[in-house]
Order: sequence, then C-alpha cells, then structure tokens
Amino acid sequence: VKVARHNATAPSSAKRDIRGLTLPDLENVIEEMGESKYRARQIAGWLYNRGVESFDAMSDVPASLREKLAERFTIGSVAAVFVSRSADSTRKLLLTLHDGEQIESVIIPAGERVTLCLSTQAGCAMGCEFCATAMMGLRRNLTAGEIVGQIFAARNELDETKHLTNYVFMGMGEPLANYPRLHDALTIMAADWGMSLSQRRITVSTVGIAPMMERLLADFPVVNLAVSFHAPADELRSRLVPLNRRYPLATLIDTCRRLPLRRRDRITFEYVMLKRVNDSPIHAAQLVKLLAPLCAKVNLIMFNPFDGAQFEPSDRDAVERFQAILRRGKITATIRESRGRDIAAACGQLYVERHGLPARRASRHAARLASIAG
Ligand code: SAH
Repeated sequence: VKVARHNATAPSSAKRDIRGLTLPDLENVIEEMGESKYRARQIAGWLYNRGVESFDAMSDVPASLREKLAERFTIGSVAAVFVSRSADSTRKLLLTLHDGEQIESVIIPAGERVTLCLSTQAGCAMGCEFCATAMMGLRRNLTAGEIVGQIFAARNELDETKHLTNYVFMGMGEPLANYPRLHDALTIMAADWGMSLSQRRITVSTVGIAPMMERLLADFPVVNLAVSFHAPADELRSRLVPLNRRYPLATLIDTCRRLPLRRRDRITFEYVMLKRVNDSPIHAAQLVKLLAPLCAKVNLIMFNPFDGAQFEPSDRDAVERFQAILRRGKITATIRESRGRDIAAACGQLYVERHGLPARRASRHAARLASIAG
C-alpha cells in the first residue's frame, strides 16, 4: 500500500545546519559567541536527545542565545515525502534533503527488534552490478546531520509502542567513502551527550575499503562490521564489485585478520545469492576455505530484483545447499529473507523506480551486465 505524503519545500540554506555538530564543535561555537561552555551540552541534549526542530523549543537556553543561534544556524530536517508500507510491515521512507536530493531509509520490524537501515550518500560511486543505487551514480555525500536526521524521521513514522532497537548502515551509499561524516554521525549516536545508543546495536556495512575498515574499528571498537563479499574469487568479485580491483580478496582477508576484534566478536560477510552466478557448491567450498582463518559469520542475502536488473534470485534449493556447505565447513551461515519486496525496498530501488535512470548510465550498465552473463 503506498501512502503519498505532503511535498516538502526545500528551505534555503545559506545558514549552517547545527544538527550534525558534535559536542566539541558546539562548544567552539558557544565560546566564540562569548557564552558559557556548558550551554553546548544543553543544546546537544535538545538536538539529539529530544530531537527538537526549533531553537524556541530549547526552553532552558536563554532567549538571547536562542536568537543568536537562529541567526547563524538552521536545524536541518529530513522530510519524508513518501512512505511505502510492505505487507510484511517493512516501511520505506523516501526523504528529501534541503537541496532536493532524495535518499531512502527503511524500517524493518522483526519480532522484538525494529531495525533502521540508514543511507550515507545520495547515490553511490561503487558501481556494484546488482545494486539499484549504483545506477544513480554518486550525487553527493550526506552531512552528519542528514545521517542522524534519518533516525528522527523514522521515529516520527513509528507510533509510541514501537522503538528503534538496531541501526544498520545498509541504505544508499558506501559509508566508508564518506568517513568524516559517518564518524561524526556515529559519535552523535553513541555519545551520552548525544543519542546514547549502544555501539553494539550499530552495524556498518562496507563494500571493502580496507584501510577505512581499520580506521572505523580503531575509532569505534564495538561497532559491528559487515563486509559485502558476494564472490569467493577475484575475477568474479571484480566483475560484481568493481572496488575489488583496488582491494582484492587477499588484501581484504588480510585486513579482516588484523582487525582488533574482541573475543566473541565476529565479522559478518554478506553474500547476495545470484542465480547461476555465485551460488554453486564450488563457490561455497571456495568461500569456506577463504573464511576459515577468520572469525566469520555469513549472511546469505536473497537478491531483491528490480527493473533493469540482469540477475535473478537463486533458487531456494541452491541457497540451502550453499548454506549446508558453509555449515559443514564450521562457518555460521544464515539466510536473510528479502524483506519488503513488494515495495521495492532493495537499496536504491524506490528512487530509481520513481525517477527512472539517466539514459547513458542505464545503457552502460546493461552493456556491463551483458558481459558478465556472457
Ligand atoms: N555500500 C555498502 C552498504 C549498502 S548496500 C555495502 O556495499 O555494503 C547493503 C547490502 O545490500 C550490501 O551487502 C549490498 O551488496 C546489498 N544489496 C545491494 N543491492 C541488493 C539487491 N538488489 N538485493 C539484495 N541485496 C542487495
């Protein structure tokens, strides 16, 4: 069922967005204004704990300071312009940013859990062949305020009885290609002056930018890491995930081995099951060999088809056979059902369905896909 929403008007943004500033940033701003530093913590509380959208709402901040802040800053909001609800209760939000760019966030309830899937970029430059977002190309990086703003937009969609419990960076974009903003967003999410969310409930998914994976875990040691693997051999992986040419499997595995994981922590390897492309028993056996030296858990993801995609989801039998081989090889393997298929919830799909593809990109994409299939 699709529910049309009001059209958000893009506010002009000569002023800087205050949402997205960390406590140290806010302290600098406040001190520059000649005010007492402790006000920064109060303001952070209003922004990130209470989620207010106006300076007037900050009732324990003096009116004079509220005015000064309003002269220099806006409180950015990301507005849901379109919400689609799936029969399986997945909800997808199409969000408009101040400059008209659009991104997607997905709310995925499952039992007691309510997971929010967050975007870090409008579009993506990574060019993975089976991903709808790739077809858009990279439009721009999100700011830290736009990243955390998705959490407030999602909270607005949920009624009082449901609360977000988990956060996964598996929406549009490559999180580690926008690291400075991701860093600030994670800081705001985890800090006691911010949203006080547990790092354990946050997962960052990457296509495998090896040096940035080390950086992420050095900065946020308890955040979960997921690596989009998708193929157990370089030739195939380079075709599906072009970044593999830069950071091939040997580099990726070596980086994963060196990551400072604490006992019991495991890296999740995502593996999209593509029919007759990467789903044979041979691929499964190769994967076991590769991942054996790691503390690994594999998530087999059902491919979510979209218009223009040249792949098909693997048959159920093939997925179960693949899983059995991994398990026999002592690797934990789960099958992630695709959720929200009826609402185009795959990464980037909703955007592409509503806007169509840039023609040149679409034909280049089709050509590349034809070369894989052949
Ligand atoms: N850029 C990051 C995060 C965004 S994609 C990354 O690559 O990990 C999140 C996950 O969804 C990735 O594992 C990605 O490979 C997968 N994915 C992309 N398109 C998909 C589709 N059509 N069906 C199923 N999974 C898809």
